[in-house]
Amino acid sequence: MVLNNILNLFFPKLCGACSKPIINCVDELCINCEIHLVYESNPNRTKIPKALRGRVEIEKGVFFIDFTKKEGVQQVLHSIKYQNQKKLAIYLSEELTKKLGATFFETIDVMIPVPLHPKKFKIRGFNQADLIATGIHNCFKIPIDTTSLQRKEFTDSQTKKNRLERWKNVQNAFEVKDKTALNKKHILLLDDVFTTGATLEACIKTIQKEVDCTFSILTLARA
Ligand SMILES: [Zn+2]
Repeated sequence: MVLNNILNLFFPKLCGACSKPIINCVDELCINCEIHLVYESNPNRTKIPKALRGRVEIEKGVFFIDFTKKEGVQQVLHSIKYQNQKKLAIYLSEELTKKLGATFFETIDVMIPVPLHPKKFKIRGFNQADLIATGIHNCFKIPIDTTSLQRKEFTDSQTKKNRLERWKNVQNAFEVKDKTALNKKHILLLDDVFTTGATLEACIKTIQKEVDCTFSILTLARA
């Protein structure tokens, strides 16, 4: 601890969201970002089900951080995606999972992080949705399935696309590798951000074509 504090003087740990030095070297976030991203974030359970109404059936849908409203903290998801902020993603996932509480997870049989194409995984080195799964698993021991659903198509980035383009881009991107593993299960699909929901919709439609199961959705943010 003493060594840590001394090291921290010379090489201060930086906040995962805003990159300002953190004085307390235990956390991944500075106090300001901790307040915005954790303390002030309340699980929103209505907007995802509403956005998917008429498109796919889900049991529950929840996100925590609304980037469509908050200024100044948008950096965090970018950090998680591109600056290898693995610890931050797991930390945020743990903190927000605790806020959501055990009852949300009671009926969930298995978690599936939205898969990345193997090529993209290789470039980035990790899948941010896997880290969210790890955070939840650290709190409630729900099994994580990263093999039954896979990404077969290398899709373009969704960021510059509108809703229709996003849907066309991902509708055939996924395939089910193991039907029996998912049969009759309540699956919690995980992703970092909910934007138009096209990717999650594609996952659900792909699985539902072949397997009898139900779905819920959890993302860290809405953007
Ligand atoms: Zn910060």
